[in-house]
Amino acid sequence: MESTGPLDRSSQKRLPRLEHYNIYENVVRILDRKLGRIADVDYRHGEMFCEVCESSECPHTGYAWSIYERYSSERRAV
Ligand SMILES: [Zn+2]
Repeated sequence: MESTGPLDRSSQKRLPRLEHYNIYENVVRILDRKLGRIADVDYRHGEMFCEVCESSECPHTGYAWSIYERYSSERRAV
């Protein structure tokens, strides 16, 4: 039996709330464990727009930027 509740002390490592799930040309897909869903962040007109929050300033867009920049630099390096 597995418990994922907050009182479960057997799991020592906490998973981060946000995790990079996938990236497409104009979309950064992020797994949000707090919401329990995937958040798609559109990259358009030079800014990130989160479809979940309908905002360009939320935790997802900030996270999407960090992924996008890393992804871009990796592509340049190749
Ligand atoms: Zn968001």
